[in-house]
Amino acid sequence: SYSSGTQKVTLIPGDGIGPEISAAVQKIFTAANVPIEWEAVDVTPVRGADGKFGIPQAAIDSVNTNKIGLKGPLMTPVGKGHRSLNLALRKEFNLLEGYKTLYDDVDVVTIRENTEGEYSGIEHEIVDGVVQSIKLITEEASKRVAEYAFQYAKNNNRKKVTVVHKANIMRMSDGLFLRCVRDMAQKFPEIQFEEKYLDTVCLNMVQNPGKYDVLVMPNLYGDILSDMCAGLVGGLGLTPSGNMGLNGALFESVHGTAPDIAGKDLANPTALLLSAVMMLRHMKLNTHADKIERAAFETIKESKYLTGDLGGRAKCSEFTNEICAKL
Ligand code: NAD
Repeated sequence: SYSSGTQKVTLIPGDGIGPEISAAVQKIFTAANVPIEWEAVDVTPVRGADGKFGIPQAAIDSVNTNKIGLKGPLMTPVGKGHRSLNLALRKEFNLLEGYKTLYDDVDVVTIRENTEGEYSGIEHEIVDGVVQSIKLITEEASKRVAEYAFQYAKNNNRKKVTVVHKANIMRMSDGLFLRCVRDMAQKFPEIQFEEKYLDTVCLNMVQNPGKYDVLVMPNLYGDILSDMCAGLVGGLGLTPSGNMGLNGALFESVHGTAPDIAGKDLANPTALLLSAVMMLRHMKLNTHADKIERAAFETIKESKYLTGDLGGRAKCSEFTNEICAKL
């Protein structure tokens, strides 16, 4: 049923534990009376006119129309002729990613460029036994993620932006990225700015994460560092993320499809739920976001219904029901 206050949101339930945790989020949103309508789409690749497999047009149209989506994890097939669907989705929508942690003493936001770098997908075999992979860095994408990072810092009352790089070795590619962030820093004099090598950040992060506030970096570094940060705050079952595009945004948990526990009602839906909470804030539905976040944090704090990854014995559905009961 249509009501003027209701916005449509594309839902990509995903593979593995995806459908279970998506159902949990939908149930919680219903309990919290969130004024959105889900439009579920299937992103299983289909063969196009050119004979190549790609994301179904209906799914692309849905995200482009709604401008906002929530995505469960997708399995990346290993083998020839397949490209990561996650990568394809991010490229399709020109997205870049950032994610927030939730524990009081660790409060780090990692923002990564999410379409190029080592993940440009350009690889070839020169001769037998010699493979070359291209790391692509463009000024356009670097400037965009740099601007997003400073704007994010400003909008969210953050004090400092750290650019994470290896320009000492990757002189040209990381050098360009570094220069773009450095230039952007001048436009935001109210935000502190520092430059750090990736290895230094890794060392400092595990010793004293309080040193850092907002981190901005190229794709691969962000992929790895964000998982490391996730490990610092309770693991992949908890950490949300958002992919911010030029025309829309797609929110997703940091973790994958967890094939080892899929279909057993054991997954922790918190990461996807907090991604959905980030999405609500992006949609300016802050009251609903706060309410749901509070119910989730309380449920975790009480520790009565914790899933296995957090040392508990509750099922995904029991944890979900407890959050709904609080709402
Ligand atoms: P994974 O994140 O799926 O699993 C790693 C470990 O964390 C597993 O032991 C799993 O049980 C656990 N785990 C993950 N999420 C959990 C949750 N919500 N609750 C409780 N435990 C959880 O990583 P993987 O095994 O390396 O990857 C599996 C598949 O997922 C691969 O095909 C990979 O390509 C894909 N993947 C997709 C995304 C994405 O869609 N953005 C991200 C990472 C991996």
